[in-house]
Amino acid sequence: ALEKRIQDLEARQQQYPEVTFLTYKDRKRILVTGGAGFVGSHLVDRLMLAGHEVIVADNFFTGRKRNIEHWIGHENFELINHDIVNPLYIEVDQIYHLASPASPPHYMYNPVKTIKVNSIGTINMLGLARRVRARLLFASTSEVYGDPEVHPQKETYFGNVNPFGPRSCYDESKRVAEAMCYAYAQQEGISIRIARIFNTYGPRMHMNDGRVVSNFVLQALQNEPITIYGTGKQTRSFQYVSDLVDGLIALMNSNYSMPMNLGNPDEYTIEQFATKIKELVGSQASIVYKDPVIDDPKQRRPDITLAKSWLNWEPKVLLSDGLNKTIAYFRNELLVKHHSNRN
Ligand code: NAD
Ligand code: UDP
Ligand code: UDP
Repeated sequence: ALEKRIQDLEARQQQYPEVTFLTYKDRKRILVTGGAGFVGSHLVDRLMLAGHEVIVADNFFTGRKRNIEHWIGHENFELINHDIVNPLYIEVDQIYHLASPASPPHYMYNPVKTIKVNSIGTINMLGLARRVRARLLFASTSEVYGDPEVHPQKETYFGNVNPFGPRSCYDESKRVAEAMCYAYAQQEGISIRIARIFNTYGPRMHMNDGRVVSNFVLQALQNEPITIYGTGKQTRSFQYVSDLVDGLIALMNSNYSMPMNLGNPDEYTIEQFATKIKELVGSQASIVYKDPVIDDPKQRRPDITLAKSWLNWEPKVLLSDGLNKTIAYFRNELLVKHHSNRN
């Protein structure tokens, strides 16, 4: 059996020369919660290509089987249809805990469930980590900084979050999850990693998640008005998904256990962003201004000094390159949708 494994490994290495493959002893059993989602599925691809055993636990609230279907049937891959609010008893070495609704319309759709997923769900994953002595990486968010009064945001900033508003179900439950990670680390000696993820985009984003990238790209592709909420002077900084996956894996395998920002420091106003997407698509769409969103953060940009010094990590993908790939993905999705509507 060992010989066969080594042969497989050599064959894979030849197929994907750019990837470093692991010997059997370096192979880990890795749980990715939310692994059928946008970020999770890209992470799964990378971990599978590196030769790990990967278990995905996902309840398909916003994730799709299609995102990971290419691994179904692979001997190193397992998919569990599981709601993370319920306990999960398996044996693993590492846990990437990503399960949570992520876009404002999705997390506001059922705010009580959003709170349960990030609180009870995270307790369950920490309980699992405690039982099997696995390391857990929690997918936190730049939303822990709320509508920041400090710019750019460093990890030491405590944030400016409204505890009682439409975004609080997400922001506060991510904050309590960080507190739980800290408590389990201190009290139970669990090894934890916390990634504060800033706005991320790329292929496999949801068509209808209501986030700015998917909205603008779809509107531009269909020559529908591009909808700016509020003045369009609010800013965001967008990172391409492959950069984030690099950062997540580097953070998991580092020895830094405090929260760390992962994001692209290139900052744009939403207005600039709308124009950029329109240009890249070559669209005739008009730009329209809608009502502002409640508690919408006015500016957001990560300070990534920590990630640079601890992980030697920084984003590599240029916005126009990342957007072109994302536009190509959405263009194809629209074609698929169009065809399936006709049949
Ligand atoms: P996504 O919606 O594509 O993925 C989330 C996944 O979690 C989906 O597959 C969904 O089905 C699953 N899920 C939700 N509730 C679940 C439950 N109760 N049990 C099991 N699975 C459940 O979103 P994403 O953009 O890939 O986000 C992944 C993680 O990264 C989330 O934790 C999110 O909060 C965090 N994050 C994302 C961004 C971003 O810009 N994409 C920014 C900051 C933080
Ligand atoms: N848990 C789990 N898988 C495990 C171990 C625990 O899902 O392998 C859940 C369990 O349901 C519990 C939670 O994690 O509610 C917290 O576990 P912990 O051991 O910290 O606390 P306790 O079991 O004492 O409540
Ligand atoms: N936004 C917009 N038009 C849209 C969707 C979003 O102007 O169709 C704005 C939104 O108000 C916010 C920014 O784009 O200022 C980013 O929104 P998104 O929902 O993508 O993520 P957030 O960073 O707010 O979680």
